[in-house]
Amino acid sequence: MSVLVYTENWDGKFKKSSFELLSYANEIAKKANTELTALTIGNVSEEELKSLGKFGASKVLVIKDEKLKDFIAKTYSSAIAQVAEKLDSKIIIVANNVSGRAVAARISVKLDGSFAPGVMHLPSSIEPFVVRKKAYSGKAFSDFELTGKVTVLSLNPNSFKLIEDAKGITIEEITVEINDADLAAKPKSVEKATGKLLITEAEILVSGGRGLKGPENWGMIEELATTLGAATCCSRPVADLEWRPHEEHVGQTGKVVAPNLYIAVGISGAIQHLAGVNSSKVMVAINTDEEAPFFEAADYGIIGDAFKVVPALNEAIKKFKAHS
Ligand SMILES: Cc1cc2nc3c(=O)[nH]c(=O)nc-3n(C[C@H](O)[C@H](O)[C@H](O)COP(=O)(O)OP(=O)(O)OC[C@H]3O[C@@H](n4cnc5c(N)ncnc54)[C@H](O)[C@@H]3O)c2cc1C
Repeated sequence: MSVLVYTENWDGKFKKSSFELLSYANEIAKKANTELTALTIGNVSEEELKSLGKFGASKVLVIKDEKLKDFIAKTYSSAIAQVAEKLDSKIIIVANNVSGRAVAARISVKLDGSFAPGVMHLPSSIEPFVVRKKAYSGKAFSDFELTGKVTVLSLNPNSFKLIEDAKGITIEEITVEINDADLAAKPKSVEKATGKLLITEAEILVSGGRGLKGPENWGMIEELATTLGAATCCSRPVADLEWRPHEEHVGQTGKVVAPNLYIAVGISGAIQHLAGVNSSKVMVAINTDEEAPFFEAADYGIIGDAFKVVPALNEAIKKFKAHS
Protein backbone atom coordinates (compact mmCIF):
# COMPACT_ATOMS: atom_id res chain seq x y z
CA MET A 1 0.00 0.00 0.00
CA SER A 2 1.32 3.46 -0.80
CA VAL A 3 -0.05 6.94 -1.23
CA LEU A 4 0.03 7.90 -4.92
CA VAL A 5 0.17 11.51 -6.06
CA TYR A 6 -0.35 12.52 -9.66
CA THR A 7 2.05 15.43 -10.11
CA GLU A 8 1.19 17.28 -13.29
CA ASN A 9 4.05 18.90 -15.21
CA TRP A 10 3.78 21.82 -17.61
CA ASP A 11 6.14 21.29 -20.56
CA GLY A 12 8.40 19.23 -18.33
CA LYS A 13 8.37 21.60 -15.34
CA PHE A 14 6.70 21.24 -11.97
CA LYS A 15 5.03 24.16 -10.23
CA LYS A 16 4.53 25.13 -6.62
CA SER A 17 1.14 23.37 -6.62
CA SER A 18 2.88 20.02 -7.34
CA PHE A 19 5.08 20.50 -4.27
CA GLU A 20 2.08 21.54 -2.13
CA LEU A 21 0.37 18.36 -3.22
CA LEU A 22 3.36 16.24 -2.19
CA SER A 23 3.70 18.06 1.14
CA TYR A 24 0.04 17.32 1.87
CA ALA A 25 0.26 13.70 0.70
CA ASN A 26 3.45 13.14 2.68
CA GLU A 27 1.65 14.05 5.91
CA ILE A 28 -1.07 11.51 5.02
CA ALA A 29 1.53 8.86 4.14
CA LYS A 30 3.13 9.40 7.56
CA LYS A 31 -0.24 9.07 9.30
CA ALA A 32 -0.96 5.89 7.31
CA ASN A 33 2.56 4.62 7.98
CA THR A 34 3.29 4.09 4.30
CA GLU A 35 5.37 5.38 1.40
CA LEU A 36 4.66 8.28 -0.89
CA THR A 37 4.98 7.72 -4.64
CA ALA A 38 4.79 10.52 -7.22
CA LEU A 39 3.62 9.83 -10.75
CA THR A 40 4.05 12.11 -13.72
CA ILE A 41 3.33 11.78 -17.43
CA GLY A 42 5.54 13.09 -20.24
CA ASN A 43 9.12 14.07 -20.86
CA VAL A 44 10.62 15.47 -17.69
CA SER A 45 14.34 15.86 -17.01
CA GLU A 46 15.96 13.79 -14.27
CA GLU A 47 16.83 16.93 -12.33
CA GLU A 48 13.20 18.05 -12.39
CA LEU A 49 12.01 14.58 -11.32
CA LYS A 50 14.50 14.65 -8.44
CA SER A 51 12.91 17.88 -7.16
CA LEU A 52 9.85 15.79 -6.18
CA GLY A 53 12.03 13.98 -3.64
CA LYS A 54 12.46 17.20 -1.64
CA PHE A 55 8.86 17.04 -0.49
CA GLY A 56 8.58 13.50 0.77
CA ALA A 57 8.30 11.24 -2.29
CA SER A 58 10.52 8.18 -1.99
CA LYS A 59 9.68 6.93 -5.48
CA VAL A 60 9.00 8.83 -8.69
CA LEU A 61 7.33 7.03 -11.58
CA VAL A 62 7.21 8.48 -15.05
CA ILE A 63 5.11 7.38 -18.03
CA LYS A 64 6.50 8.33 -21.42
CA ASP A 65 3.97 7.30 -24.04
CA GLU A 66 3.23 9.14 -27.28
CA LYS A 67 -0.45 8.31 -26.82
CA LEU A 68 -0.38 10.48 -23.69
CA LYS A 69 1.21 13.47 -25.47
CA ASP A 70 -1.97 15.54 -25.04
CA PHE A 71 -4.05 15.66 -21.91
CA ILE A 72 -7.22 13.61 -22.41
CA ALA A 73 -9.10 12.88 -19.20
CA LYS A 74 -10.04 9.33 -20.31
CA THR A 75 -6.47 8.24 -21.13
CA TYR A 76 -4.84 10.01 -18.19
CA SER A 77 -7.33 8.63 -15.68
CA SER A 78 -6.87 5.15 -17.12
CA ALA A 79 -3.06 5.47 -16.86
CA ILE A 80 -3.16 6.74 -13.26
CA ALA A 81 -5.68 4.05 -12.22
CA GLN A 82 -3.47 1.32 -13.73
CA VAL A 83 -0.46 2.58 -11.78
CA ALA A 84 -2.52 2.76 -8.58
CA GLU A 85 -3.58 -0.87 -9.12
CA LYS A 86 0.01 -1.99 -9.76
CA LEU A 87 1.18 -0.29 -6.55
CA ASP A 88 -1.93 -1.26 -4.61
CA SER A 89 -2.33 2.42 -3.69
CA LYS A 90 -5.36 2.98 -1.53
CA ILE A 91 -5.05 6.77 -1.40
CA ILE A 92 -4.69 8.77 -4.63
CA ILE A 93 -4.27 12.53 -4.55
CA VAL A 94 -4.42 15.03 -7.41
CA ALA A 95 -4.62 18.83 -7.64
CA ASN A 96 -8.07 20.39 -7.62
CA ASN A 97 -7.58 22.09 -10.97
CA VAL A 98 -9.41 21.51 -14.26
CA SER A 99 -7.41 18.41 -15.24
CA GLY A 100 -7.17 17.09 -11.68
CA ARG A 101 -10.93 17.20 -11.15
CA ALA A 102 -11.52 15.56 -14.53
CA VAL A 103 -9.24 12.60 -13.80
CA ALA A 104 -10.09 12.18 -10.11
CA ALA A 105 -13.76 11.38 -10.64
CA ARG A 106 -12.92 8.89 -13.40
CA ILE A 107 -10.20 7.19 -11.32
CA SER A 108 -12.64 6.86 -8.47
CA VAL A 109 -15.21 5.15 -10.73
CA LYS A 110 -12.60 2.84 -12.30
CA LEU A 111 -11.29 1.68 -8.92
CA ASP A 112 -14.61 1.55 -7.11
CA GLY A 113 -13.41 4.32 -4.85
CA SER A 114 -14.76 7.37 -3.04
CA PHE A 115 -13.85 10.88 -4.19
CA ALA A 116 -13.68 14.05 -2.11
CA PRO A 117 -13.13 17.05 -4.37
CA GLY A 118 -11.54 20.29 -3.16
CA VAL A 119 -10.13 19.22 0.19
CA MET A 120 -8.12 21.79 2.14
CA HIS A 121 -7.26 20.02 5.39
CA LEU A 122 -5.56 16.84 6.47
CA PRO A 123 -7.92 13.97 7.28
CA SER A 124 -8.95 13.78 10.93
CA SER A 125 -8.73 9.99 10.70
CA ILE A 126 -7.30 7.46 8.21
CA GLU A 127 -9.39 4.42 9.21
CA PRO A 128 -12.14 5.30 8.58
CA PHE A 129 -10.96 8.03 6.23
CA VAL A 130 -12.60 11.28 7.33
CA VAL A 131 -11.72 14.58 5.71
CA ARG A 132 -13.19 18.08 5.79
CA LYS A 133 -14.20 19.77 2.55
CA LYS A 134 -16.11 22.81 1.48
CA ALA A 135 -19.82 22.52 0.81
CA TYR A 136 -22.53 24.77 -0.62
CA SER A 137 -20.14 26.71 -2.89
CA GLY A 138 -17.82 27.40 0.01
CA LYS A 139 -20.50 28.66 2.43
CA ALA A 140 -20.05 25.69 4.76
CA PHE A 141 -17.70 22.87 5.67
CA SER A 142 -18.64 19.24 5.70
CA ASP A 143 -16.83 16.23 7.18
CA PHE A 144 -16.79 13.40 4.63
CA GLU A 145 -16.32 9.73 5.47
CA LEU A 146 -14.90 7.88 2.45
CA THR A 147 -15.65 4.18 2.44
CA GLY A 148 -14.82 3.09 -1.14
CA LYS A 149 -12.11 0.59 -2.00
CA VAL A 150 -9.74 3.49 -2.65
CA THR A 151 -9.79 7.09 -1.49
CA VAL A 152 -9.38 9.79 -4.14
CA LEU A 153 -8.80 13.40 -3.08
CA SER A 154 -8.28 16.61 -5.03
CA LEU A 155 -6.42 19.27 -3.04
CA ASN A 156 -7.29 22.95 -3.49
CA PRO A 157 -4.30 24.93 -4.72
CA ASN A 158 -2.65 27.23 -2.16
CA SER A 159 -4.39 25.52 0.76
CA PHE A 160 -1.43 23.61 2.19
CA LYS A 161 2.04 24.90 3.02
CA LEU A 162 5.24 23.47 1.55
CA ILE A 163 7.00 21.12 3.97
CA GLU A 164 10.44 19.93 2.92
CA ASP A 165 11.22 16.31 3.75
CA ALA A 166 14.07 15.19 1.52
CA LYS A 167 14.36 11.45 0.95
CA GLY A 168 16.62 9.31 -1.19
CA ILE A 169 14.39 8.72 -4.19
CA THR A 170 14.28 6.15 -6.93
CA ILE A 171 13.11 7.18 -10.40
CA GLU A 172 11.54 4.55 -12.64
CA GLU A 173 9.82 4.53 -16.00
CA ILE A 174 6.53 2.65 -16.00
CA THR A 175 4.33 1.54 -18.89
CA VAL A 176 0.56 1.34 -19.11
CA GLU A 177 -1.96 0.06 -21.67
CA ILE A 178 -3.80 2.82 -23.51
CA ASN A 179 -7.03 1.75 -25.14
CA ASP A 180 -7.37 3.29 -28.62
CA ALA A 181 -11.11 3.75 -28.00
CA ASP A 182 -10.17 6.32 -25.31
CA LEU A 183 -8.51 8.39 -28.02
CA ALA A 184 -11.70 8.71 -30.07
CA ALA A 185 -11.90 12.41 -29.15
CA LYS A 186 -8.51 14.08 -29.09
CA PRO A 187 -7.24 17.62 -29.65
CA LYS A 188 -6.10 18.38 -33.21
CA SER A 189 -4.21 21.51 -32.22
CA VAL A 190 -3.53 23.35 -28.97
CA GLU A 191 -2.91 27.07 -28.62
CA LYS A 192 -1.33 27.97 -25.32
CA ALA A 193 -1.05 31.35 -23.66
CA THR A 194 2.67 31.80 -23.12
CA GLY A 195 4.74 34.06 -20.91
CA LYS A 196 1.79 34.84 -18.63
CA LEU A 197 1.56 34.10 -14.96
CA LEU A 198 -1.10 31.37 -14.62
CA ILE A 199 -4.04 32.58 -12.55
CA THR A 200 -4.23 29.29 -10.66
CA GLU A 201 -0.57 29.69 -9.63
CA ALA A 202 -0.41 33.44 -8.92
CA GLU A 203 -0.08 34.58 -5.31
CA ILE A 204 -1.93 37.82 -6.07
CA LEU A 205 -4.84 38.32 -8.48
CA VAL A 206 -6.36 41.57 -9.65
CA SER A 207 -9.79 40.79 -11.02
CA GLY A 208 -12.16 43.01 -12.99
CA GLY A 209 -15.93 42.87 -13.42
CA ARG A 210 -18.61 44.51 -15.49
CA GLY A 211 -18.23 47.64 -13.33
CA LEU A 212 -15.21 48.47 -15.49
CA LYS A 213 -17.60 49.30 -18.35
CA GLY A 214 -15.47 48.01 -21.24
CA PRO A 215 -12.25 46.32 -22.38
CA GLU A 216 -10.60 49.68 -23.06
CA ASN A 217 -10.46 50.27 -19.28
CA TRP A 218 -8.32 47.25 -18.44
CA GLY A 219 -5.07 49.24 -18.61
CA MET A 220 -5.36 50.31 -14.97
CA ILE A 221 -6.06 46.71 -13.90
CA GLU A 222 -2.96 45.51 -15.74
CA GLU A 223 -0.87 48.34 -14.29
CA LEU A 224 -1.94 47.48 -10.74
CA ALA A 225 -1.19 43.81 -11.45
CA THR A 226 2.28 44.68 -12.76
CA THR A 227 3.03 46.78 -9.66
CA LEU A 228 1.97 43.91 -7.40
CA GLY A 229 3.54 41.10 -9.47
CA ALA A 230 0.02 39.73 -9.89
CA ALA A 231 -1.97 38.04 -12.64
CA THR A 232 -5.27 39.42 -13.94
CA CYS A 233 -8.59 37.62 -14.05
CA CYS A 234 -12.25 38.52 -14.46
CA SER A 235 -15.89 37.70 -13.81
CA ARG A 236 -17.84 35.56 -16.24
CA PRO A 237 -19.85 38.32 -17.99
CA VAL A 238 -16.56 40.04 -18.78
CA ALA A 239 -15.32 36.92 -20.57
CA ASP A 240 -18.74 36.31 -22.19
CA LEU A 241 -18.67 39.88 -23.54
CA GLU A 242 -15.17 39.09 -24.87
CA TRP A 243 -13.64 41.99 -22.96
CA ARG A 244 -11.12 39.46 -21.63
CA PRO A 245 -10.13 35.93 -22.73
CA HIS A 246 -12.07 33.01 -21.26
CA GLU A 247 -8.92 31.60 -19.64
CA GLU A 248 -9.20 34.51 -17.14
CA HIS A 249 -12.76 33.75 -16.06
CA VAL A 250 -13.01 32.64 -12.42
CA GLY A 251 -15.96 31.21 -10.53
CA GLN A 252 -18.26 28.24 -10.44
CA THR A 253 -18.05 27.75 -14.22
CA GLY A 254 -14.52 29.13 -14.55
CA LYS A 255 -11.24 28.55 -12.78
CA VAL A 256 -11.10 27.99 -9.04
CA VAL A 257 -8.36 30.10 -7.49
CA ALA A 258 -6.93 30.50 -4.01
CA PRO A 259 -4.32 33.28 -4.05
CA ASN A 260 -2.94 34.98 -0.96
CA LEU A 261 -4.60 38.21 -2.11
CA TYR A 262 -7.62 38.65 -4.40
CA ILE A 263 -8.57 42.20 -5.39
CA ALA A 264 -12.05 42.38 -6.95
CA VAL A 265 -12.69 45.57 -8.89
CA GLY A 266 -16.24 46.35 -10.01
CA ILE A 267 -17.46 42.82 -9.28
CA SER A 268 -20.79 42.48 -7.49
CA GLY A 269 -19.93 39.25 -5.64
CA ALA A 270 -22.57 36.86 -6.95
CA ILE A 271 -22.49 33.41 -5.33
CA GLN A 272 -21.30 31.83 -8.61
CA HIS A 273 -18.31 34.19 -8.66
CA LEU A 274 -17.48 33.74 -4.98
CA ALA A 275 -17.59 29.95 -5.40
CA GLY A 276 -14.37 30.17 -7.38
CA VAL A 277 -12.50 32.71 -5.27
CA ASN A 278 -13.55 32.41 -1.64
CA SER A 279 -10.61 30.22 -0.68
CA SER A 280 -8.37 33.27 -1.18
CA LYS A 281 -6.47 34.12 2.00
CA VAL A 282 -7.39 37.84 1.86
CA MET A 283 -10.07 39.41 -0.34
CA VAL A 284 -10.40 43.11 -1.11
CA ALA A 285 -13.48 44.50 -2.89
CA ILE A 286 -13.65 47.85 -4.66
CA ASN A 287 -17.20 48.81 -5.57
CA THR A 288 -19.33 51.97 -5.80
CA ASP A 289 -22.33 50.19 -4.30
CA GLU A 290 -22.04 49.80 -0.55
CA GLU A 291 -24.73 47.09 -0.70
CA ALA A 292 -22.68 44.93 -3.14
CA PRO A 293 -22.65 41.32 -1.81
CA PHE A 294 -18.86 41.17 -2.23
CA PHE A 295 -18.49 43.37 0.87
CA GLU A 296 -20.03 40.56 2.98
CA ALA A 297 -17.34 38.13 1.87
CA ALA A 298 -14.36 40.52 1.63
CA ASP A 299 -11.80 41.08 4.38
CA TYR A 300 -11.34 44.71 3.27
CA GLY A 301 -13.70 46.88 1.28
CA ILE A 302 -13.29 50.21 -0.50
CA ILE A 303 -16.57 51.91 -1.38
CA GLY A 304 -15.63 54.08 -4.33
CA ASP A 305 -15.28 54.54 -8.04
CA ALA A 306 -12.77 52.08 -9.47
CA PHE A 307 -11.60 54.69 -11.96
CA LYS A 308 -10.36 56.83 -9.05
CA VAL A 309 -9.49 54.14 -6.49
CA VAL A 310 -7.39 51.82 -8.69
CA PRO A 311 -4.96 54.47 -10.04
CA ALA A 312 -4.63 55.98 -6.52
CA LEU A 313 -3.97 52.53 -5.04
CA ASN A 314 -1.40 51.80 -7.73
CA GLU A 315 0.44 55.07 -7.05
CA ALA A 316 0.37 54.49 -3.28
CA ILE A 317 1.78 50.94 -3.67
CA LYS A 318 4.49 52.17 -6.04
CA LYS A 319 5.52 54.86 -3.50
CA PHE A 320 5.46 52.34 -0.68
CA LYS A 321 7.64 49.93 -2.69
CA ALA A 322 10.07 52.70 -3.59
CA HIS A 323 10.59 53.50 0.12
CA SER A 324 10.72 49.98 1.48
C1 LIG B 1 -25.10 28.75 -13.63
C2 LIG B 1 -24.35 30.03 -13.50
C3 LIG B 1 -22.97 30.00 -13.42
C4 LIG B 1 -22.23 31.18 -13.29
N1 LIG B 1 -20.86 31.11 -13.19
C5 LIG B 1 -20.17 32.25 -12.97
C6 LIG B 1 -18.76 32.22 -12.79
O1 LIG B 1 -18.14 31.17 -12.89
N2 LIG B 1 -18.13 33.39 -12.56
C7 LIG B 1 -18.77 34.59 -12.48
O2 LIG B 1 -18.11 35.62 -12.27
N3 LIG B 1 -20.09 34.65 -12.65
C8 LIG B 1 -20.81 33.53 -12.91
N4 LIG B 1 -22.16 33.60 -13.10
C9 LIG B 1 -22.77 34.93 -13.22
C10 LIG B 1 -23.05 35.57 -11.86
O3 LIG B 1 -24.31 35.17 -11.40
C11 LIG B 1 -23.04 37.12 -11.97
O4 LIG B 1 -23.98 37.51 -12.95
C12 LIG B 1 -21.68 37.68 -12.36
O5 LIG B 1 -20.68 37.20 -11.49
C13 LIG B 1 -21.72 39.20 -12.29
O6 LIG B 1 -20.53 39.71 -12.82
P1 LIG B 1 -20.02 41.15 -12.37
O7 LIG B 1 -19.99 41.22 -10.90
O8 LIG B 1 -18.80 41.44 -13.15
O9 LIG B 1 -21.16 42.10 -12.99
P2 LIG B 1 -22.36 42.86 -12.29
O10 LIG B 1 -23.24 41.95 -11.52
O11 LIG B 1 -22.97 43.67 -13.36
O12 LIG B 1 -21.66 43.80 -11.21
C14 LIG B 1 -20.89 44.92 -11.54
C15 LIG B 1 -20.50 45.58 -10.23
O13 LIG B 1 -19.68 46.71 -10.51
C16 LIG B 1 -20.03 47.74 -9.63
N5 LIG B 1 -19.61 48.99 -10.28
C17 LIG B 1 -20.22 49.67 -11.29
N6 LIG B 1 -19.48 50.74 -11.62
C18 LIG B 1 -18.41 50.76 -10.80
C19 LIG B 1 -17.29 51.63 -10.67
N7 LIG B 1 -17.14 52.71 -11.45
N8 LIG B 1 -16.37 51.35 -9.72
C20 LIG B 1 -16.51 50.26 -8.91
N9 LIG B 1 -17.55 49.41 -8.99
C21 LIG B 1 -18.48 49.66 -9.94
C22 LIG B 1 -21.53 47.64 -9.47
O14 LIG B 1 -21.94 48.24 -8.26
C23 LIG B 1 -21.70 46.12 -9.43
O15 LIG B 1 -21.63 45.62 -8.10
C24 LIG B 1 -22.91 32.43 -13.24
C25 LIG B 1 -24.30 32.46 -13.31
C26 LIG B 1 -25.01 31.28 -13.44
C27 LIG B 1 -26.52 31.35 -13.49
